[in-house]
Amino acid sequence: MTDTESTLSNARRQLEHAVANVDIDSGVVERLKHPTRVQQVSIPLRRDDGTLEVFTGYRAQHDDVRGPYKGGLRYHPEVTAEECIGLSMWMTWKCAVMDLPFGGGKGGVAVDPKTLSEQERERLTRRFAEEIRDVIGPKQDVPAPDMGTDPQTMAWFMDAYSMQEGETTPGIVTGKPPSIGGSHGREEAPGRSVAIVTREAIDYYDWDIEETNVAVQGFGSVGANAARLLDEWGAKIVAVSDVDGAIYDPDGLDTNDVEGHDERPGMVSGYDAPESLTNAELLELDVDVLVPAAVSNVITADNVDDVQAKLVVEGANGPTTFAADTILAERGVPVIPDILANAGGVTVSYFEWLQDINRRTWPLDRVHEELETEMLKAWNAVRAEVDERDLTWRDGAYAVALSRIGEAKESRGLWP
Ligand code: GLU
Repeated sequence: MTDTESTLSNARRQLEHAVANVDIDSGVVERLKHPTRVQQVSIPLRRDDGTLEVFTGYRAQHDDVRGPYKGGLRYHPEVTAEECIGLSMWMTWKCAVMDLPFGGGKGGVAVDPKTLSEQERERLTRRFAEEIRDVIGPKQDVPAPDMGTDPQTMAWFMDAYSMQEGETTPGIVTGKPPSIGGSHGREEAPGRSVAIVTREAIDYYDWDIEETNVAVQGFGSVGANAARLLDEWGAKIVAVSDVDGAIYDPDGLDTNDVEGHDERPGMVSGYDAPESLTNAELLELDVDVLVPAAVSNVITADNVDDVQAKLVVEGANGPTTFAADTILAERGVPVIPDILANAGGVTVSYFEWLQDINRRTWPLDRVHEELETEMLKAWNAVRAEVDERDLTWRDGAYAVALSRIGEAKESRGLWP
């Protein structure tokens, strides 16, 4: 059997499974199975050699009952409308778990950004911003970075939007460089929240962080920041990887000495470690904590029986397929879900949006403090569901999110 679940199917099955644990109107659930709108656009790009190529872009807007659609823009060859819909559903739940006044959106362009020059990426981004300008806005839909996009992408996007609107509009995107209204601490925030919930889970299970070893798949922004913080807090990071493979040291790696994938691609293997492994082998290490922080669908029905970790913390969006998740639950292996674990990204995006509205910059220590507070609030809300109703962490997170969304839908009603 090969378990290759699509993001949309995974998101829909998770929702169908989770509603059993929530007192929510079936009509509301039906509405939540469908996105409000999916915009598909064609993006003509003049390549540096003068030729012309047309790329396809999307913006999926899942639900905005609690506030503007919010979520990243992804540049990846496999981006499809369906994938964006699935990812936008996860954003709706993620914002609700964190109690942020946002709904869920996600978009992207089907392109491999590594095949474009910087100038081509800039032209593509500006034209994409123009093509979806009608459906976004600081009070309607606020994009952010995701796979294949970064603060510079957001800066071009914000500039293109602002030029067309005739006013500087920093609140149109989050994840910008701080020089133009970006928040300090936004880039490291998803990794920081992964580290915070890992620390809380270690505490919940009465382990000693100094005795805990961790393997992290993916040493990009999420994985590298999570690994370095956990290392600083005393955990032993025994393995990390990038697309080219993994390095392993049972005595612990010096994570500050491993260059991040974003800093210099391919440099994970440049670290002098006693052993190198494949990405598949990293997932099967006998460790306390496994943090899949690279791409989706890496823990599947095909390899889950070989996953030996005692705890899984999802750094990436959707790294565990529905089938694998069910098997881990049966085996009693806790999985801290993406919609809680990596939610620090969108939480600091919310802080950024507030700073943009107020035209006021928060210092980094305030961002860290408020993120810590919000993560602990969300962690405790989910933990209460887990403890009181004997749910998995994913079902607990869904229960928190869906009851907040259900309540908002009930209060607002259906128009007309
Ligand atoms: N792309 C990020 C995520 O998946 C962040 C989205 C945002 O900040 O709006 O959560």
